[in-house]
Amino acid sequence: MTADLHIHSTCSDGTDKPDKIVEMAAAAGLSCLALTDHDSIDGLAQATEQGRRLGVEVIPGIELTTESPNREIHILGYYFDPGQPEFLAILKKIQQSRVERIKKMVKKLNSLKIDLEVEDVLTLSDGKTPGRPHVARALINQGQVKSIKEAFDRYLETRGPAYVPHYKLKPVEAIHLIRAAGGIPVLAHPLISNCDELIVELKKEGLGGVEAYYSGYTPATTERYVMLAQDNGLLVTGGSDFHGQDSGRENQLGSVKLPEQYVEALKNEHLHRH
Ligand code: AMP
Ligand code: ZN
Ligand code: FE
Ligand code: FE
Repeated sequence: MTADLHIHSTCSDGTDKPDKIVEMAAAAGLSCLALTDHDSIDGLAQATEQGRRLGVEVIPGIELTTESPNREIHILGYYFDPGQPEFLAILKKIQQSRVERIKKMVKKLNSLKIDLEVEDVLTLSDGKTPGRPHVARALINQGQVKSIKEAFDRYLETRGPAYVPHYKLKPVEAIHLIRAAGGIPVLAHPLISNCDELIVELKKEGLGGVEAYYSGYTPATTERYVMLAQDNGLLVTGGSDFHGQDSGRENQLGSVKLPEQYVEALKNEHLHRH
């Protein structure tokens, strides 16, 4: 069993469609994956169907962007009920806010004398969760910048001149939402989220795991988070955070493989509660 439990598709800011991702995963020898699009479950049906066809187990997943004072914390969710009404209502609210935010960001860019239209961005996200990477790609298409990195450095990073926030849950709200939908909430890429001191408190609120295996983590970092998870009675998860072959990112699909014992523990947790 080889599993990659953190992957983005065109249903958020990845560049490969869900069925293509499952195909690539099968070719790469993965037997299990979770699609974890930002604030969206739109790709799950397609991925699950393709997984059935190709013999790849697809675990339902999502990555919720949350805000805590001075930082963004990403919470992954696994094995939730994708039809739970409250869950769907919140996702809809976040997506609407993301579209409004793109409009405001384009206005800010226009006021910086950059020729860009809202449609140039929304065509790229194609009705799915639009994010800053879509703005970056639109800026490249318009010849305004040469790379995604340049777009973020000059305009889009949190302190950049074109940054606009969107509606976000608090970490605890995201954890409660995923639990209410029957899912298991997991702290994503803990080094980036930079909130180790919150783990004990988040566990009390229902946090179920920590993503100890992640692209670029040294064995020592992974070991540290595995210990932290085990000391706190939390599951261990992991994944590549693959964003697609044309995303400009280097992390490859399946480049992070979660050891079988942890995949089994996650599955058991799910099975025990249902
Ligand atoms: P959003 O959720 O729309 O605010 O966009 C966040 C996405 O932008 C995440 O997938 C990040 O990985 C990506 N991102 C954030 N900062 C950078 C950066 N400096 N360079 C490239 N991508 C970035
Ligand atoms: Zn992303
Ligand atoms: Fe993330
Ligand atoms: Fe991610």
